[in-house]
Amino acid sequence: GATIGVLGGGQLGRMMALAGAPLGYRFIALDPAPDGPSGQVAAQIVAAYSDQEAAAELARRTDVITYEFENVDAEVAALLEERSYVPQGSRLLYTTQHRLREKAALEAAGATVAPYAEIKSEADLDAAVQRLGTPCVLKTATGGYDGKGQYVIRGRGEVTSAYAELAVAGAELVLEQFIAFRCEISVIAARSSLGETSTFPPAENIHRGGILHASIVPARVPADVLAEAERLAARIAESLGAVGLLAVEMFYGEDGRLYVNEVAPRPHNSGHYTMEACTTSQFEQHVRAICGLPLGSPELRTPVVMVNVLGEHLDGVTKLMLSPGSVGTEKVRPKFHLYGKAEAKTGRKMGHINLLCGDTADGLSWIDEAGIWPAG
Ligand code: ATP
Ligand code: MG
Ligand code: MG
Repeated sequence: GATIGVLGGGQLGRMMALAGAPLGYRFIALDPAPDGPSGQVAAQIVAAYSDQEAAAELARRTDVITYEFENVDAEVAALLEERSYVPQGSRLLYTTQHRLREKAALEAAGATVAPYAEIKSEADLDAAVQRLGTPCVLKTATGGYDGKGQYVIRGRGEVTSAYAELAVAGAELVLEQFIAFRCEISVIAARSSLGETSTFPPAENIHRGGILHASIVPARVPADVLAEAERLAARIAESLGAVGLLAVEMFYGEDGRLYVNEVAPRPHNSGHYTMEACTTSQFEQHVRAICGLPLGSPELRTPVVMVNVLGEHLDGVTKLMLSPGSVGTEKVRPKFHLYGKAEAKTGRKMGHINLLCGDTADGLSWIDEAGIWPAG
């Protein structure tokens, strides 16, 4: 079998390696932290992501290279493309690393995005806040995740503090109108190096404090909206020339329209439900897509609720795993996925649980009754 190199050694790389091994692939991760989530299950080169020599070594020792986060250094991406086979290319990274480039690409694909403005000064911000109205949200154009690098502006009086907080070290900024949504959904699209496209069923996503809390599948939105969301995600993946996975986050607006929030060219937290609930997991699908294998069936085999285990939930979940409750009932079967991270910091993603259930309402009740996740 071939060897797959992964830039990044976190939980996404770990689950990729665990899914790719049965297909006969070996994995080598490049990550500065030894014995991280991926290093525990795959070989690892311990070095900074920007270390050109380490990147060259990764290229030498592997047949295919992929990444598990999108903030890959542009020079390293270019070096890897030159020395190795990077089916996803560096263009997709370049587009999705920057919110303004990403929005332009989404609009070119025919998607609707929240009205937005590029912000280069406090005066820009004040004018844009007046034009777009409040509430609106100021975001750093690069580097944000889990809601970091964002400021929700509720009135013109907050312009100065929002700008002071985010415009540090010349950070590029974008202001977005706050979309009043019925719910958030996401679709994981896969496109293979042979051009085959497939989409997983949309997940309904509940965020708490800017961090994904739970995904519910099937999403509780009308069937025609679900079908439209899948079509839209496939169209975006094709338009961006994506290879591998492309996670597409959307708002299902109060006005009944779908707005695309952002995309990620990799496996996504909101696709973890696929691990036991679909015939093919998002991780297997990613490996298939980048290795030129036919794509697997994305069929949903059971309703499912995925709940994230953050640092503050880990003690409760560890106790639960020792109890008979961890086996579940006929109504709800929990499947545990812990990432093997050493430090359980608040807000840090330590694992997730897929609750396989007859009805997603039962999965949601299970979360309430576990007493581990405070009511949102
Ligand atoms: P991720 O971890 O998904 O990469 P991120 O830091 O890139 O997160 P976003 O996805 O842009 O952040 O925003 C985080 C959450 O904040 C969204 O899922 C949504 O709940 C809310 N949000 C962000 N932008 C908007 C908007 N324009 N209108 C309404 N809600 C928004
Ligand atoms: Mg993001
Ligand atoms: Mg997001």
